[in-house]
Amino acid sequence: MTWTYKTGEFHPESLLLQESLFALANGYIGVRGNLEEGLAGGELSIRGSYINAFYDETQIHYGEKLFAFPETQEKLVNIIDTQTIELFFGVEEERFSLFAGEVMHFERKLYLDKGFSERIVHWRSPLGKEVVISFKRLVSIAYRELFVQQITIKGINFDGPVKIVSLLNGDVANYTNANDPRVASGHAKLLKVIDVKTKKELQTILCETSASKLQVACNTRNWISKHATVLTKVHQDKTVATYETDLDQPVVFEKQSVYTDTRRHGIDLAEKGEKLLQDVCSIRFEAIAEKQEAILQSFWKVSDIEIEGDHRLQEGIRFNMFHLFQSAGRDDFSNIAAKGLSGEGYEGHYFWDTEIYMLPFFTLTEPSLAKSLLRYRYSILEGARERAKEMGHQKGALFPWRTIAGRECSGYFPAGTAQYHISADVAYSYIQYYLATKDSGIWSEFGAEVLFETARLWIEVGHFADGTFRIDAVTGPDEYTCIVNNNYYTNVLAKYNLQWAAKVYQLLKDTDPVAFDEIKQKIQFEEAEADDWMWAAQHMYLPYDPERKINPQDDSFLQKAVWNLADTPKEHYPLLLHYHPLTLYRYQVCKQADTVLAHFLLEDEQDLETMQASYEYYEKVTTHDSSLSSCIFSIMAVKLGNMEKAYNYFMETARLDLDNTHGNTKDGLHMANMGGTWMAIVYGFGGLRIKENGISLTPRLPKQWTGYKFRFRTEGTTLEVKVEQSGVSIKKLTGKGLSIKVYGEDYYISNPIFVGLQ
Ligand code: BGC
Repeated sequence: MTWTYKTGEFHPESLLLQESLFALANGYIGVRGNLEEGLAGGELSIRGSYINAFYDETQIHYGEKLFAFPETQEKLVNIIDTQTIELFFGVEEERFSLFAGEVMHFERKLYLDKGFSERIVHWRSPLGKEVVISFKRLVSIAYRELFVQQITIKGINFDGPVKIVSLLNGDVANYTNANDPRVASGHAKLLKVIDVKTKKELQTILCETSASKLQVACNTRNWISKHATVLTKVHQDKTVATYETDLDQPVVFEKQSVYTDTRRHGIDLAEKGEKLLQDVCSIRFEAIAEKQEAILQSFWKVSDIEIEGDHRLQEGIRFNMFHLFQSAGRDDFSNIAAKGLSGEGYEGHYFWDTEIYMLPFFTLTEPSLAKSLLRYRYSILEGARERAKEMGHQKGALFPWRTIAGRECSGYFPAGTAQYHISADVAYSYIQYYLATKDSGIWSEFGAEVLFETARLWIEVGHFADGTFRIDAVTGPDEYTCIVNNNYYTNVLAKYNLQWAAKVYQLLKDTDPVAFDEIKQKIQFEEAEADDWMWAAQHMYLPYDPERKINPQDDSFLQKAVWNLADTPKEHYPLLLHYHPLTLYRYQVCKQADTVLAHFLLEDEQDLETMQASYEYYEKVTTHDSSLSSCIFSIMAVKLGNMEKAYNYFMETARLDLDNTHGNTKDGLHMANMGGTWMAIVYGFGGLRIKENGISLTPRLPKQWTGYKFRFRTEGTTLEVKVEQSGVSIKKLTGKGLSIKVYGEDYYISNPIFVGLQ
């Protein structure tokens, strides 16, 4: 059940939205769900294909450029388009289009269990020719560089000529919108065509970016199931292959496209692509789809979540997990962009979204993929060291707020570079990975270096005053409150970062002295630094207001006037599009969870009473204008015992993109929220926690559901947790037995256990 996301009608006004929802990817290539046959002209569409981490550099123009402002920005490039396949019927050459003739039947499906999409159209041309066309497309996980399209055409009342025109087009541009800070405002044309050629059935285009001088190539080949006359033409920036045959029997047409790029394939990338295509060109769509399904099956075995009694919700959850899986970068160059590979929102940048919102899902379901995402941060550590220096620090690493290849790409530092917490977030994700997997190799391989360098940053940026360690002039997660002293979130995560750096120092020194010495040499680490880390952590100042019994978001937050949310017109949301930042900064108004998020991530730092009072306080001043917010309010509501709120907030996450509730899914899917959906079930309703002292669960059941089931993998063991009114069953699916606390009681899970629901 609910393994297919479908739409049954074609609505031109939802074209852009559908392009994002039906995007397909494999962590390397991403292709938006554009229509093969093209549009009538004039419709808004973002025709996009991307390679993860394939970027150009563009100038950032400032009115007043101050010291250490980034000069350039990395930007995900819309690459060579291979999606177009036009269809013409009859001697009149009537062109198939959803905007002409009559669409008698339309359905579009995304097979979440099989990993491909399909569009079936029964069409009557203006002159009355009836055909049924199925378009299937798949971005292969088994063959990283491969995108395949299959078109099957059946004549209903027509068996005459059909012409299939397959294009490969290097004349592409990025999408821009000058009035929305969440998408790019300029620099649309980033790719230049270097070479276009055809060789028998093969068509090749090689392009280069303007500034980064990276190259991308696309090689394509077509295949047709019956005899056809073929004509291939080379134009200045595109190739056109035309196939002519008759519809006396159904025609199957397949197009295979192989993308290669400088970053992954080095020089001769076009030739390498040609070779890769050569290796797969005899494999037909069905065989590729079979492999894809096997990969998806093994993914779902651990990642699936089942909700009983709510079909729409189930659909939303699986949709989100599927897109997360598709979007994750699987090499050292790439990570998961805020919009995955489904659009150009936030210019393809990687944010803290990965570490705090998406990594938990991978760490607990696909740990090897999680490790590769962690390794990406290590691959940009050198850049983070340089950035720390530029920012006036002697030592340490400051990870860029938004980046692709490691450079800071934020042109607005108050809500960009000032979010120093990203360095602690990276450290946090490393620690969580270690706690969940017990893979201590991560420290000697690359993790210790990251923890040490981020800990150093806090020593550099903080200072001692009144017996406490304080961090001034930073911005926390809430982007409506910028450049503040002692942001609770930043301080508490920095504290954790410092504590763990000291811990890992000891652990590595004791268990792997050779690796320890190597790191010591490499980063010129002095052992006294570890004492400073512990000292700073122990004295970290965490703001607390005894009167309200809450943690103030920062030193000045509570002194500000409270924004009048009740009287703010609905159409003024999100506030960032309607008010100058300074206006927002003068008020107590939060874009997203900040202190509440810190309470979730590090719940042992405060008592329940403080967390409860803080929750109630911040809930009243939070707009949730960021999609990173509702899931956290849901998780904390469960912890605080308010299941109604937990459920309502959760419902805002699960179908956020499917129902386009933030109104901007056209620019790409909200990946952090997708990870948040998973966290809201597993950490929220399931109450999973993995800490140094062990694993615990406190499952709760919202009254709207009859039951739910999730799985997670820890220390090589996969557990399944099923929560129903009758009780909670926990079963080991693979691996060794495991000790776990359920509602505070100790259990050893080797055989299944059953515990009453609390
Ligand atoms: C949020 C940030 C987030 C970014 C990318 C912004 O709207 O405020 O926290 O990192 O989107 O998703």
